[in-house]
Amino acid sequence: MPASSPFLMSLPRQIKLRAGEVPVRVRMSPRARRLALRIDAQAEAVELVLPRRISARRATAFIEENRAWLDKRITALPPRTVLADGATIPILDEPHLIRRVDVARERQYVWIDDGKIFVAAAPDQIARRVVDFLKERARDEFQRRASDLAVQIGRKIGRITVRDTTTRWGSCAASGNLAFSWRLIMAPDAVLEYVVAHEVAHLAEMNHGPRFWNLVEKLAPGVDRQRDWLNRHRARLLRIG
Ligand SMILES: [Zn+2]
Repeated sequence: MPASSPFLMSLPRQIKLRAGEVPVRVRMSPRARRLALRIDAQAEAVELVLPRRISARRATAFIEENRAWLDKRITALPPRTVLADGATIPILDEPHLIRRVDVARERQYVWIDDGKIFVAAAPDQIARRVVDFLKERARDEFQRRASDLAVQIGRKIGRITVRDTTTRWGSCAASGNLAFSWRLIMAPDAVLEYVVAHEVAHLAEMNHGPRFWNLVEKLAPGVDRQRDWLNRHRARLLRIG
C-alpha cells in the first residue's frame, strides 16, 4: 500500500502526550494477529503495528485506548546523551568523559587515555568520530570473542558485521555470518560476552530450544542475569548518540 493511500492518510500522524507531540509510525504487518503499539526509544516515536483487515477507525481508537500507557512509557525514557564535548558514555560499562581537542595524537583522531575519550575534531564532527571509533572497538571485541567461542564448539564463524539495530542485539545467518549492534560495546563485559555466545551457539543449534540454552550457558554462564540487564538498559543504550 503506498504511503499516501487514503487509508494511511486517515490514521493519526502524531499523538499529543504529556511529553509533547510524538510521531506515530505505522508498520503494516500481514503476519501480525492483533494491533500492537511499541515505543521506538531511539526515535522517540510510537510505532503502530497494523495487521490485515483492520479499519482506520479501529486503529485510531486503539491508540486512544492506550494513551495512558504511551504517556507512561514515553515519560519513562531515559534522557538522551548527545555525543559532544563534556558528555559521559560507558565503554564496557565504565563511564568515559568525552573531551574535544585540537590536535590529533600520532595520526589518531580518537583515542582513550586515563578513562577519557579524546577526539580531535570540529564540534559538529565529534559524534560521528566517536561512533566510528566505538564501532571499530566493538568489531574487534566481537571478532576475538566469537572466534574463541566458536573454537570451543568446533564451528567456524563467517563474516562479522557491526550494525545499529534497534530491535535485536545480534543475529546469526545460516551461512555462519554474524551481526551485532555496536552499542553492545557500552554494556558490561559479561553482557557483551553473552550476546556473542548466543549467536555463536546458533552455529550449532539454529533454534531456541533447551539444548541451545544449555550450550549458551556453558559458553557464557549467567544467561538470565545478562538478559535481564539488556532488558533493563536497552532504552538507555539506544538513547546514546
Ligand atoms: Zn537467538
